[in-house]
Amino acid sequence: MTVKKILTEPDPLLRQVSTPVENVGEEERKLMDDMLETMYAAPGIGLAAIQIGIPKRIIVMDISRDENKKEPMYFINPIIKNKNLEKNKYEEGCLSVPNQFAEIERPNRCEVEYLDYDGKKKTLKADGLLATCIQHEMDHLEGILFIDYLSKLKKSMIIKKLSKSKLSRIVV
Ligand code: ZN
Repeated sequence: MTVKKILTEPDPLLRQVSTPVENVGEEERKLMDDMLETMYAAPGIGLAAIQIGIPKRIIVMDISRDENKKEPMYFINPIIKNKNLEKNKYEEGCLSVPNQFAEIERPNRCEVEYLDYDGKKKTLKADGLLATCIQHEMDHLEGILFIDYLSKLKKSMIIKKLSKSKLSRIVV
């Protein structure tokens, strides 16, 4: 496994729409291993392939945040089937937008269909941090960053306000 360089804003590659994976084979599994290693080293709790410059619809995540009990998750070609109307707010950060945090509102629950590490079709019902994290990562597949949800003015105001916030910070 290799730790890769994480691209940061304003790298134009981060704005590229990633393409679906046709076959989950050795190459894809090696990429996921490298992505996981890169994510743990950063450290972060989620990483999309495009963040290391590969425009494929692949995401790795581990929201356990426990060194001794790693719980890696792999999502290939994820599709959101259902989104809850109720919203949830987290103070989000991003490995590709270093040292920037903002409170972002997203549906608090979603159902995701995807292929796992072995290429098997799976469905996951996510809520809380998991739901936020997967939606943040899926935005990367469309070339969207969390700062895109903010106006320039709002962004600076929220960042100022959040410097005193007690909301838990997550980096995905
Ligand atoms: Zn991110």
